[in-house]
Amino acid sequence: MVSQGATKEYAHIMTFTTLALAADGPTTGLSLHEIERREVGPGDVRIEISHSGICHSDIHTINGDWGPKPYPVVPGHEIIGRVTEVGASVTAHKVGDRVGVGVIVGSCGTCGECSRGLQQYCGNGLVWTFGSEDPHMPGHTTHGGYSREIVTEEAFVYRVPENLDPAGAAPLLCAGITVFSPLKTWGASAGKKVGVVGIGGLGHLAVKFSHALGAQTVGFTTSPEKEAMILGLGADEVVLSSDAAAMKASEGTFDLIIDTVPFSHDLNPYLNQLTVDGTLVVVGALVPITEPLIGGALISKRRRIAGSVIGGVPETQEMLDFAGEHGITADIEFIRADYVNQAYERVIAGDVNFRFVIDATTIGAPAPELISAQEAADRVAAGALIVDVRPERFLTEAGVNTLATWVDRKNMDAYFTPGGEHYLAEALADTDREVVVMCGSIKGSAPMAQWLLENGRANVSHVDGGFDAWREAGLPSSLVE
Ligand SMILES: [Zn+2]
Ligand SMILES: [Zn+2]
Repeated sequence: MVSQGATKEYAHIMTFTTLALAADGPTTGLSLHEIERREVGPGDVRIEISHSGICHSDIHTINGDWGPKPYPVVPGHEIIGRVTEVGASVTAHKVGDRVGVGVIVGSCGTCGECSRGLQQYCGNGLVWTFGSEDPHMPGHTTHGGYSREIVTEEAFVYRVPENLDPAGAAPLLCAGITVFSPLKTWGASAGKKVGVVGIGGLGHLAVKFSHALGAQTVGFTTSPEKEAMILGLGADEVVLSSDAAAMKASEGTFDLIIDTVPFSHDLNPYLNQLTVDGTLVVVGALVPITEPLIGGALISKRRRIAGSVIGGVPETQEMLDFAGEHGITADIEFIRADYVNQAYERVIAGDVNFRFVIDATTIGAPAPELISAQEAADRVAAGALIVDVRPERFLTEAGVNTLATWVDRKNMDAYFTPGGEHYLAEALADTDREVVVMCGSIKGSAPMAQWLLENGRANVSHVDGGFDAWREAGLPSSLVE
């Protein structure tokens, strides 16, 4: 029974509604919902969410793998956005700041762990970003980042460096801190040799961070075809874990191994890679690890097996600042909200280029029409205006110095680097022509087309197909030739 006090307290909290993607049960998939958030209190920050990463734990939570959940569940704990309002006592953030929210949004604040900045280990009132009882709205559960907006206590809102691509930065809030924390805790640095097992969403970031921390970094993989990719992430070396001779050759040489594999697997081969006092840190497998552990592998070199989960508030900020200094972001696939259920299927199948990130501005938004290059050419011939949003690096590659030169040379209507929306708004202010958005990929064109739609431009479409398709259709396409 809800106590009278709690009910009254909730009755005094003002709420607003916002749009979100939520699951109504373990098998329903995600659909558009209107949800309630609390209005900003004195210590709160209101954030307009722009990017929300998809973490495998979102799927586990919805499935009920970690215990029953009160539905609907709005997942998402890799959140990036801009501050739109702050409470009276907030000092760390101001309106307009780019900020992030991660896996936790509350803790007791007074226990030993909280006092040490290890809020993730608070045993006394930890509040998960989604699916937790909401201390601010008794009787409600917390709702995560697959949403247009969120309101979060100031202490659990992080500064996100402006130089980082916000889409690639989103996964830092869970995947990034999950690997950064053990790398720091066990001293990854110059002169140390660090191994990473499982080069996926977590592992690819572990390689990047370990390399940036100065450690000799080795990726373990069972797939020889992944070697070049892993080296490209910053690994100094790749060891094929299915190659017994290669594993034998590197035995006893590692100071630290971060094991990101999310299922039960044999730890012994990796334990044997550790030198004296080396540590194997399990961060991926929450399930029982059923392969028998060989005691001799532990004992013979005073080796340790450890575990670690995300990071505390100070360390999460340190990780983001470090990522900003070293230009570290996740490799991602950027998707519209209406692709989320397909994305889940692909995550479950292991078919993702490291991490999906949802364009949160597309939640509940009208979708721009996707048209072929030929259709685009026809519309342009009939008076539509072309907006080209290819990244600026193409200009450099094409030997073009300025945007103006390029627009002039190609007789383009407008050219924009993604993110330059305000220039676009200015350029389109005095025309009502239909707009066709072109980019090298749908990933590039869709967000800009979406932005135009949301900012009151009717008749916006975006173009399917890359440069070759444009060329065939007679659209300007010689930029990279
Ligand atoms: Zn996560
Ligand atoms: Zn605590």
